Amino acid sequence: MTSKTIPARLVITCDRCGVETHQSLGTGRRRRKGVLSIESDGLDALGDPCCNANRSIDLCDDCLFKIETAIEAAMVLAGSERR
Ligand SMILES: [Zn+2]
Repeated sequence: MTSKTIPARLVITCDRCGVETHQSLGTGRRRRKGVLSIESDGLDALGDPCCNANRSIDLCDDCLFKIETAIEAAMVLAGSERR
């Protein structure tokens, strides 16, 4: 009888498109380890801060690029509207 140890592989699902990615070499590799973090307070019915509403969004490399591009475009647009 022989035995073989197969190392564990961490598979992360993109929160935007649902594709499964991993850190190993090969197809589906997640090279940039993209995570979008949004830090904010949650508000109660009267509009006062009442709890932590932070979010952490795992992204594949393709979605990370798209989100970065969208944020940069929004910042340029917001900058052009500033007075
Ligand atoms: Zn994705």
